[in-house]
Amino acid sequence: MRILVTGGAGFIGSHLCERLLSEGHEVVAMDNLITGSTDNIAHLAGNGSFSFIHHDVTNYIFVQGKLDFIFHLASPASPADYLAFPIQTLKVGSLGTHKTLGLAKEKNAGFMLASTSEVYGDPLIHPQTEDYWGNVNPVGPRGVYDEAKRFAEALTFAYRRFHGTNTKIARIFNTYGPRMRADDGRVVPAFISQALSDHDLTVFGDGSQTRSFCFVSDTVDGLVRLMMSNFEGPVNIGNPEEMTIREFAGFVLERIKTQSTIVYRDLPMDDPKIRKPDISLANEKLGWKPVVCLETGLDTTIEYFRKTGYQTGTSRQD
Ligand code: NAD
Ligand code: UDP
Repeated sequence: MRILVTGGAGFIGSHLCERLLSEGHEVVAMDNLITGSTDNIAHLAGNGSFSFIHHDVTNYIFVQGKLDFIFHLASPASPADYLAFPIQTLKVGSLGTHKTLGLAKEKNAGFMLASTSEVYGDPLIHPQTEDYWGNVNPVGPRGVYDEAKRFAEALTFAYRRFHGTNTKIARIFNTYGPRMRADDGRVVPAFISQALSDHDLTVFGDGSQTRSFCFVSDTVDGLVRLMMSNFEGPVNIGNPEEMTIREFAGFVLERIKTQSTIVYRDLPMDDPKIRKPDISLANEKLGWKPVVCLETGLDTTIEYFRKTGYQTGTSRQD
């Protein structure tokens, strides 16, 4: 197939491009580099089946030739990033999704939206199932991301119902791995870079909030299975192994020889208190479940940061 990946120079997007190329597909990555980097795809430059287009998908998109499938991953994804780029985040979720759906319709291509567990907001049911409508504060700081993705889901279903576009929605939960930016503010790169540089790990709030961390190769496998399936979703893609952020900090400290300890900082507004995907649907419809355990995934990620370098390890709140 010939496949377009928007956000292809980002963290998950670059791994997805690699996986698709390894399966013999032709891949066009499109990115405006607002939070991504060509460093993530530089190693693919010599591959004749890979090309890159520097473009902001909120503007009209032109791609020459046929397209069989479009993955729409373009969007700031780290809370620190979408707080720094609130309007761009709203625009890429709305206008960018409109443009990429229009392209899918024009090319008669399949389409997948990279949605998020954030559509559930600060959830009132646990674990989160796909039939839960969520608990989102539209005017809180996270609203720019959550509501953009919720609008994007509604638009995706409108194209499916009104135009008959072959659309799919993946609700991705916290994913980590190599090629995250050390300074992107998300908890995995933050704690690893802090520990590697002997800075204290900044736990927000009392650290009792929970997350469930999925290694990037597992997430990408879920996305590829969804593309190949007849299922439209929405479907949760995430690792159901849940832990508190305090436990996670302890886990990182066990794996890195460091002088760091834990310090506590204010909890950001509307920070979800609990998060864990119910993945029964992904299991049933896609035969998917994560296979990389946290120990292995974290060691691989730590190794990546050791090799590529890390910032001073200070938190966005310092
Ligand atoms: P990332 O920031 O590394 O990648 C996003 C990419 O999109 C970047 O390369 C960025 O430059 C690009 N981009 C942003 N706006 C654009 C625009 N207007 N035009 C073109 N390119 C644009 O983030 P990521 O973690 O790889 O996330 C990828 C996707 O997966 C996002 O849509 C995100 O919402 C979704 N997601 C990620 C996670 C996670 O834990 N990583 C969880 C849920 C959902
Ligand atoms: N967090 C933290 N210290 C940090 C960064 C994040 O305690 O330096 C917490 C954050 O408040 C949240 C969790 O870790 O409860 C996950 O944050 P992240 O930014 O990775 O993603 P989120 O799941 O909130 O989108």
